[in-house]
Amino acid sequence: MTAEIICVGTEILLGNIVNTNAAYISKECAGLGLSVYSQQVVGDNDKRLGTVFTEAFKRSDIVILSGGLGPTEDDLTKETVCRVLGLELVPDSEARANIEKIFERIGHKPTENNYKQALVPKDCVVLYNENGTAPGMIIEKDGHCAVLLPGPPTELIPMFEKQVRPYFAKLSKEIIYSVTVKECGIGESLLETKLLDLIDKQTNPTVATYAKTGRSEVRVTAKAASAEAAKELVKPVVKEIKSRLGAAVFTTDENEDIEHSVIRLLKKYDLKAAVAESCTGGLVSAKLVNVSGASDVFTHGFVTYSNKAKRKVLGVSRDTLKKYSAVSKEVAKEMAKGCIFTADSDVSVAVTGYAGPYDSKEEPKGLVYIACSVKDKVLVEKYNFNGDREKIREIAAVRALDLLRTSIISAYK
Ligand code: ATP
Ligand code: MG
Repeated sequence: MTAEIICVGTEILLGNIVNTNAAYISKECAGLGLSVYSQQVVGDNDKRLGTVFTEAFKRSDIVILSGGLGPTEDDLTKETVCRVLGLELVPDSEARANIEKIFERIGHKPTENNYKQALVPKDCVVLYNENGTAPGMIIEKDGHCAVLLPGPPTELIPMFEKQVRPYFAKLSKEIIYSVTVKECGIGESLLETKLLDLIDKQTNPTVATYAKTGRSEVRVTAKAASAEAAKELVKPVVKEIKSRLGAAVFTTDENEDIEHSVIRLLKKYDLKAAVAESCTGGLVSAKLVNVSGASDVFTHGFVTYSNKAKRKVLGVSRDTLKKYSAVSKEVAKEMAKGCIFTADSDVSVAVTGYAGPYDSKEEPKGLVYIACSVKDKVLVEKYNFNGDREKIREIAAVRALDLLRTSIISAYK
């Protein structure tokens, strides 16, 4: 089945908001076996939306629209779709009750225009909104289908997951199932080289690599008549990829990032960790704290940006700083050791580097040293990262967590 997406909103056209709904819906459609042929953005304008929707509804099996379901005058998606399809709007008592319930919760009375959201096209499937007042709608006509979803992602995503996905899963004859193998340290080009035969050879499942900041992913996707059959197709290929990439693979869980793997390892070996950061300015610590339950194993995050802070907080020696400069193997090493000592932790990771945007007098931007102290041994790695200041800091934080992860694995396995 073919699908297309129309995101409604002048805010998107003006560049005031990023169209994340289109990315989300496209990804979901791929997972449902729907082929997305087009994504469009239209302003809050009845005539232009009408033209775009008329064409889309003619040529695609499914048209998914996001935005413009709010209570105000400029919210006109539902009205335009009904005008084009010649459908009457009728009151829906459950949608009205939901509006009243939400207003009661926030201690306000709905205004007349709020009740506009309780009107739905006659004979449509109403998608009730647990997180807002606008119901979504599925309209079927002449063998085609229009899905109207609210703009805010906090409303659209749960509505899609709980109501739209099951609706289409029932219609689709094919299930699409994918597993993502996430790796750190190999890099996208080498990764592709290692997997080239699999990428070229496979048609079902398909194998594709994606570069992420500081790491990469391999997505293995299969189509089959049932979820079980699709899983069976994916399984041996994932196994082969994992064996080729070895310890660089940190997870195959869609919802996990590198910090989750680090926290899991710390818990497994009952270790307390502390972090000392210069150029990443707290990013490594912030990532660890993203993981619920981090407090069991993460004790301290030191942001020691100045030389004085490195000396006072971590005990880095004045001589080392003077002789080798703050961005050096020697300073990274002393930061990691000092971090363990000050925090009284079992393991530590320290980061020092030049994030840019300009090259320093001695060294280019992107030069970063990361040191890890595990079981009284300190490992220091030198990196040269590419990118702007923000990207270099992000990559450095990811790689710091990865060095900690691999150091723990090799010391405790
Ligand atoms: P509301 O009741 O809030 O008016 P709505 O369904 O009318 O909801 P819009 O008015 O189009 O939706 O957008 C409301 C908000 O939802 C936007 O300000 C923006 O924050 C978010 N939003 C809308 N469309 C998108 C999109 N395509 N991608 C990401 N966010 C979006
Ligand atoms: Mg709106």
